[in-house]
Amino acid sequence: MKIILVEVSKVALELKKPFVTALRRVTHVNDIYVKITTDTGLIGYGEAAPTTAITGDSEGSILYAIENVIAPSIMDMSLESYELILQKIQKCMKKNTSAKAAVDIAIYDLVAKKHGVPLYKFLGGAKSKIETDLTISLNSVEQMVADSVEAVSLGYKMLKIKVGNEYQKDILRIVEIQKAVGMDVLLRIDANQGWSLKEGTFILEELKKYPLNIELIEQPLVAEDITGMAKLCERTIYPILADEAIFTPLDVIEVIQKGAADLINIKLMKCGGIYPALQICAIAESYGVECFMGCMLESHVSVTAAAHLAAAKSIITRYDLDGPGLLKSQPLAGGATFNEQEIILNETPGLGF
Ligand SMILES: [Mg+2]
Repeated sequence: MKIILVEVSKVALELKKPFVTALRRVTHVNDIYVKITTDTGLIGYGEAAPTTAITGDSEGSILYAIENVIAPSIMDMSLESYELILQKIQKCMKKNTSAKAAVDIAIYDLVAKKHGVPLYKFLGGAKSKIETDLTISLNSVEQMVADSVEAVSLGYKMLKIKVGNEYQKDILRIVEIQKAVGMDVLLRIDANQGWSLKEGTFILEELKKYPLNIELIEQPLVAEDITGMAKLCERTIYPILADEAIFTPLDVIEVIQKGAADLINIKLMKCGGIYPALQICAIAESYGVECFMGCMLESHVSVTAAAHLAAAKSIITRYDLDGPGLLKSQPLAGGATFNEQEIILNETPGLGF
């Protein structure tokens, strides 16, 4: 079975409400879908999300990378030796992790379809359903409290609270949200690199004064400040989750060895797809560090792939896969079922599209 065609298309999807973090404000998701056809007629799907603020990958750079570099380098390759295809995707060019992820996802979709099993079972099958949190955008305290109350009324038991622009107001945001939703709701605090070491130290110390159900603190400091992250880890009881600090499997080794995080956030768009994500899982597992499966503003195709990986592996214990839940529509039928907080993996082969 050989690859004979790689097609890319642009999709524009409207968000239910604007998505705001310490880094950006977005109203639409403009993603790129990949469709790979084999000589037997089997089709695999993938998706890339241009997130210039985090990965540096733009719509134009993703289209160029896939059409002019990645697709030509894997054309005519055989799915019988899919390891070679997956390695070629990673090695045919530097960086461009979102473009690589889209093609990598489509290859895994094809391989699992060829074996007649859903991808999560092909990769390990540890779980068949997972529970996601919902992201609460960075807004005024009142707006964030209202959004949190609404999310809990929809059934969410975990909320990802975006903070990181005004550190003193961040304390108020967290305290007021917890007060409004009650202590049964778990809060994941994501500063998106928005605090300095001094601010982070002050906030985490201050939070101890309030009754709070905080599970973790995500990427408090700038991605490059591994030393600062290690200091903050020493100073706080809260588990620190590394997100923007982790792209490659080698980043995981550095962050863990330097004591700069307690948990690792895997996103397919940062690491370049499922193949490197499995390497991250293996490294983290060998250190006894649990992983978190996240996503960018992505739609059903790549988030279904992330859900299959997350369900497959035991070391991935926490999930933030709310991308499809934030969108008004789904352009391609099939995939995992996103029923608010509950994500159910489909039993159709591959990703199920
Ligand atoms: Mg994050």
